[in-house]
Amino acid sequence: MEAGEHNTLGQLSFGFHGFFLFWMLTTKGEALAMEDVDTLGCYTCTHACTHTNMQKQKTEGRTKVLLETVPVHKLADIFVASFEISFEEQLSMLDSVDLKVRLSKATELVDRHLQSIRVAEKITQKVEGQLSKSQKEFLLRQQMRAIKEELGDNDDDEDDVAALERKMQSAGMPSNIWKHAQRELRRLKKMQPQQPGYNSSRVYLELLADLPWQKASEEHELDLKAAKEHLDSDHYGLVKVKQRIIEYLAVRKLKPDARGPVLCFVGPPGVGKTSLASSIAAALGRKFVRISLGGVKDEADIRGHRRTYIGSMPGRLIDGLKRVAVCNPVMLLDEIDKTGSDVRGDPASALLEVLDPEQNNAFNDHYLNVPFDLSKVVFVATANRLQPIPPPLLDRMEVIELPGYTPEEKLKIAMRHLIPRVLEQHGLSSELLQIPEAMVKHVIQRYTREAGVRHLERNLAALARAAAVRVAEQEQAVPLSKDVHRLASPLLENRLADGGEVEMEVIPMAVNNHEISSAFRIASPLVVDEAMLEKVLGPPRFDDREAAERVATPGVSVGLVWTAFGGEVQFVEATAMVGKGELHLTGQLGDVIKESAQIALTWVRARATDLKLAASEGISLLEGRDVHIHFPAGAVPKDGPSAGVTLVTALVSLFSQQRMRADTAMTGEMTLRGLVLPVGGVKDKILAAHRCGVKRVILPQRNLKDLVEVPTAVLANMEILLAKRMEDVLEQAFEGGCPWRQHSKL
Ligand code: ADP
Repeated sequence: MEAGEHNTLGQLSFGFHGFFLFWMLTTKGEALAMEDVDTLGCYTCTHACTHTNMQKQKTEGRTKVLLETVPVHKLADIFVASFEISFEEQLSMLDSVDLKVRLSKATELVDRHLQSIRVAEKITQKVEGQLSKSQKEFLLRQQMRAIKEELGDNDDDEDDVAALERKMQSAGMPSNIWKHAQRELRRLKKMQPQQPGYNSSRVYLELLADLPWQKASEEHELDLKAAKEHLDSDHYGLVKVKQRIIEYLAVRKLKPDARGPVLCFVGPPGVGKTSLASSIAAALGRKFVRISLGGVKDEADIRGHRRTYIGSMPGRLIDGLKRVAVCNPVMLLDEIDKTGSDVRGDPASALLEVLDPEQNNAFNDHYLNVPFDLSKVVFVATANRLQPIPPPLLDRMEVIELPGYTPEEKLKIAMRHLIPRVLEQHGLSSELLQIPEAMVKHVIQRYTREAGVRHLERNLAALARAAAVRVAEQEQAVPLSKDVHRLASPLLENRLADGGEVEMEVIPMAVNNHEISSAFRIASPLVVDEAMLEKVLGPPRFDDREAAERVATPGVSVGLVWTAFGGEVQFVEATAMVGKGELHLTGQLGDVIKESAQIALTWVRARATDLKLAASEGISLLEGRDVHIHFPAGAVPKDGPSAGVTLVTALVSLFSQQRMRADTAMTGEMTLRGLVLPVGGVKDKILAAHRCGVKRVILPQRNLKDLVEVPTAVLANMEILLAKRMEDVLEQAFEGGCPWRQHSKL
């Protein structure tokens, strides 16, 4: 061996010695399965080893001796043999005869072993630290509990869990669900309150305990006569609807577990759909719960979120049942037509399961994760329109249509139901405020134009509020008065200035408060008059002259459309200017109505000569003219084919320069060949025309059958004109017949 080599070997052997000494001192020793147990003594022990200091000192001394006496190359062999190394590594060690190589390999192995021991030690320290922390917490908690027990203060989590368990026991869960709940409860008991998941587990169990698994409203013998009286006292008119409800109740009486159809009330807002449903609940003696489905797009809204989601909760149905706390309520699925579907699933398909009597005895809410029996729930649905309801869902329901009220019906509803209710809600009585029939009529005609009675009720409430201000102020003002007092409200004076009815009263000082109010009540009921209407409700919003003013110029026609709010009168405006023969359409139109406009223009162009429009005043429809058609109320989206005849009439009026009759409105789809096809919503449309003071309505011939649904009182005031072809419509729409007739007469 050369000097250089010696040197290197010396360094290496020194390095190994030093390294080994460091390893020995920094570790508590690893399992060293080696033959030379004697020499290495206590290094065969494990982590759990708890040596006394004396033993440690002995060990250190022995190691020192070992390091000093055993030659380096042997030492390397001894330790490498004690490590857990792979077979290849063992072979490579045996293979290295050269001392330098062997030592360098051994150093590498010792180094690796050292690293792993260090990491293991770090982890052990950490775990020990945590353990001792939780042990400490446990100890403190035990102490706290002992102190609380000593103080007699039992309001801790443990007791809460016990209370929860008691609640769960009395919830009457079916046995399989009880087992599931118990499993969850056992989990909860093992958790610390600070532990993640404790709260969610607890909220879940609370829900299980709160749900009405068995609890039901007591079913009393159904008295059909009383139910009928109840319906009659709550709702005016609606004879057919009430009859159908009575039939429904009669079937339930004869066969309480009958799986009758789900009733679905369809009609514009404010026609009494919700209040009819609550009347059904009252007649059945059951609790009523309303679940609003308007705008529900996520299936999870119906079925709930799985508990793995953060912030997960049950669906609206389960939530509603929890609120109502009985398993057999009347549940109103409000606005079922407003559910949409998107990427988050299809709520309508979840509703299918709910409404299907075959499936709903085991409704599966994702959050609840156990089946819930919905078969005892009486479902009633409401919708504004039928079209958006998916056919399979519609198939499970029996549709009952509520078309809207005539002004006469509204007047009766107002006088019999709305006014008494509004007065009561505002703490008034008929001795304090009187709204004469003529004024209610005025409100119906001039301030509201709706199918239902919601705006009417709101307007009546506004009048009641104004009166309430006066009464409240007067009752306040009297005790402060000295000798005599003028009872007038500055607030109401502002509203009832010039000409408004302002009451002035002289009340003697001596009378007490009660006498004052009764004296006041007898002396001065506030009677609503036109001036007060105008002050409180503002200037009238509608009048009958609107149609006449709108059709004063040629190119405008009056159509009848059907919206979610019932029927409505819709004007169509057309104008022409120099251009390239293009058609411009405005007013937020859908594809179908745009196509109707194209068809209308094509038909008028094709028939221009027949209609003698091309010749009239030298206008040529065929060349060099752009046509613009606008549907006013431009912010409201419109669609549907029923504006066909209205569009043609507007165009004929424009090109013939003849005005359409102001007392006439029309509806009907038109084919390219000029045939008039039937349309939907006839009843609502005729009611709308009636509301707006229209006297004549042009309808497709094939809609004749729909007239039976229109109240006779409305039909008696109107002339219904039936049309088979577009020419029939034009014949009726213009004063003195269709424009071409006039030309042909010339
Ligand atoms: P909808 O659910 O159809 O939108 P609501 O049931 O909320 O309408 O009815 C609105 C208001 O009109 C309620 O106060 C209701 O009592 C009243 N109402 C509607 N129709 C009638 C009627 N035929 N008789 C008495 N009140 C009615």
